[in-house]
Amino acid sequence: MQRVTTIAEVRGAVRQARDRGGPIALVPTMGSLHEGHLSLVDRARTGSATVVLSIYVNPLQFGPGEDFERYPRDLERDARLAEERSVDLLFAPTDSEIYPDFPTRPAVTVAPLALADRLCGRSRPGHFEGVLTVVAKLFHIVQPDVAVFGQKDFQQSVLIRRMVRDLSLPVEIVVAPIVREPDGVAMSSRNAYLDAAARRSGRALSRALAAAIRGFCAGERRARVLRETAEEVLRSTRGVEIEYVEVVNPHTLDPVEQASREDVCAVAARVGSARLIDNAILGAPDPALAGLVERGDAA
Ligand code: AMP
Repeated sequence: MQRVTTIAEVRGAVRQARDRGGPIALVPTMGSLHEGHLSLVDRARTGSATVVLSIYVNPLQFGPGEDFERYPRDLERDARLAEERSVDLLFAPTDSEIYPDFPTRPAVTVAPLALADRLCGRSRPGHFEGVLTVVAKLFHIVQPDVAVFGQKDFQQSVLIRRMVRDLSLPVEIVVAPIVREPDGVAMSSRNAYLDAAARRSGRALSRALAAAIRGFCAGERRARVLRETAEEVLRSTRGVEIEYVEVVNPHTLDPVEQASREDVCAVAARVGSARLIDNAILGAPDPALAGLVERGDAA
């Protein structure tokens, strides 16, 4: 695995990979890698000759008072995991490499007009502008044929698809299923913020989704009822403060009244000192969540 930190080095390495032939895939991350990130690397590997992994904790997507400073960082561990998973090129830039005027904000950014004021956007103003700006930059730096993202950050994946369409970016977007811990909790770098009690409470998010899906499978189509079913699980768990529970259309993110198979139930909650998110496609939950639904393990 080749490790680089500058844009010039990435471009050189990608040029060589192009000369060797085969598609190039990019997996953008903020590091502190876990099996969820590594599943994206595996997905990138299928069909691509070269896998580029970027690790960059993007200051532009953190609001004032959010966890930018304490966000977990361990580049040497990440590099070991990436190498074990056969990443070809690891790009871990500095702030001033990505933002030439750092710490001053860039003068030009990619700002979503629609879709960013829903779900997570309501409590994180400017967050998706930061995400789209860094992802657009990574696309221009690496120029991948394919980029792989996780369903875990559902709203982010919807906005990235829209950016690619609206700005005619020449990259195929793949969205891979959520990887979960054995007890159903979605893997997240932010789970590191949870103490033992909060970690137990964190199970409420996936259980809330499982409860909504069980309702959907039993024929309930009123989104309000499915939402209330999920909310009930969250509300009855100590230490969980609900931010939102919604059932939305996967393209417009509009709340629906009558739920259908492709709609997404999305939740966000404060648990201990972490803000956790999770989601599921009602008619096609990720395999780990489907297991939780089957076990009847929702309460
Ligand atoms: P992050 O490092 O949190 O910015 O995440 C980088 C990428 O990994 C994003 O596309 C996330 O959606 C994805 N990701 C994070 N957690 C998971 C998970 N548990 N399962 C699948 N993908 C994930």
